[in-house]
Amino acid sequence: MSFDTLGLAEPLVRALSVAGYTEPTSVQAEAIPAAMSGTDLMVSSRTGSGKTASFMLPALMRVLALRESEPKPAPMPRNDGPRGPGFERGPRGPRFVPQGPSVLVLAPTRELALQVAKAASDYGRYIPGLRVATVVGGVPYGAQLRALSGPLDILIATPGRLLDHLGAGKLPLGRVGFFVLDEADRMLDMGFIDDIHAIAEALPQQRQTVMFSATFSGPAGRLAEELLREPRRIEVASHTETHADIEQRLHWADDLRHKNALLDHILTTREVDQALVFTSTQRDAEVLATRLAEMGHQVDALHGGMPQGRRNRVLDQLRNRRLRVLVATDVAARGIDVKTISHVINYGLPMKEEDYVHRIGRTGRAGRTGLAVTLAERRDFGMVQRIQRFTTQRIPAATITGLEPRTPEPAARPKPGFGAKPGPKRFGNGPKPGYGKPFARGAAKPSR
Ligand code: AMP
Repeated sequence: MSFDTLGLAEPLVRALSVAGYTEPTSVQAEAIPAAMSGTDLMVSSRTGSGKTASFMLPALMRVLALRESEPKPAPMPRNDGPRGPGFERGPRGPRFVPQGPSVLVLAPTRELALQVAKAASDYGRYIPGLRVATVVGGVPYGAQLRALSGPLDILIATPGRLLDHLGAGKLPLGRVGFFVLDEADRMLDMGFIDDIHAIAEALPQQRQTVMFSATFSGPAGRLAEELLREPRRIEVASHTETHADIEQRLHWADDLRHKNALLDHILTTREVDQALVFTSTQRDAEVLATRLAEMGHQVDALHGGMPQGRRNRVLDQLRNRRLRVLVATDVAARGIDVKTISHVINYGLPMKEEDYVHRIGRTGRAGRTGLAVTLAERRDFGMVQRIQRFTTQRIPAATITGLEPRTPEPAARPKPGFGAKPGPKRFGNGPKPGYGKPFARGAAKPSR
């Protein structure tokens, strides 16, 4: 299948060929025609699957269609200043009345919003005068206000800051005909539910809404019921998919010193092109980045406690390959799309099992393969089990010669409802090599 057969306009097909895309990914093949038919959509698809293009290309099609259909303003006398949609005659010549965007995308984090904005500009590069603006927290209001007061096609925003502008009466949303919620489950996790409702209420009733979420169970499903009208469900890959491009490994560490030795060994192997190392806290990210820098690694930290300017500079350095290692927390790493990340290393385990899936999805992108290594201490046993249950996959345990753990590998004890169902991908169906062994005598009971 090629992009031409999806019914995309020529400027978009040209931009995709410049981007080097030869064929649509599965989610694009399904979601693009569906979105272009005008129906509301609920899409579950993991990051790295090409989901951004699957809503941005239909969004750009809508912008193109509006360009054709919107009435041109009445001709004004020459030398009367700028003209075009949105300009009206004022006492001192033409003045611009902000019309607001026709496409609105909400994203959970600044990084993801900026990533989506880049996709809009890349895929829309051959649409003359395309106007894309981003409204995210943590940056000064001035530039955003200027962008909002000019003509606008596509607005990409994080909910909190968008609501600020809306409350200040600086943002007309009456023209929005295409509304996208990207990573909706994540926005709900971050507590944006009321903001999303307030924003949706400011939008026209007559609109198309497209919602992307890793899951549609629980709050995300309820939000979909509230915001979508007769949606079509597109499920390309769920959290139970195999992540065929990502090899996963689990190393058990005796203690912090052992964990550091394992990390140091992995980071010095030649296979590491670029590595993203996750910690559980901002402080751990700082401490670890400092230690790795002292060892001579090209490394920096990225976490939500850093000012936005510095976060952007760190990401640029990662993209320009001036960094080989980035030590990050979950929120800050969301939306990182760097194809050369060959390794994701879980140095601190995530707080939530979904985050494991988001983390490992930072590697193995755009057709490349990646390695996701989890370094777990005995006290992480409960979380490792929860992750395996969530993904319905076992993370194969591995060892490094000379750095084998001294204490035996923790083992799962059968729990009601866990491992009860037989099946090739399930685990816990009895002892497996290196997994599922009974507790070794005297071994510390892992904390849960
Ligand atoms: P996303 O899931 O939107 O974060 O996209 C993941 C990566 O895949 C990005 O680097 C995109 O540039 C890339 N990508 C998206 N669509 C395609 C495609 N059809 N062919 C090749 N790469 C793509």
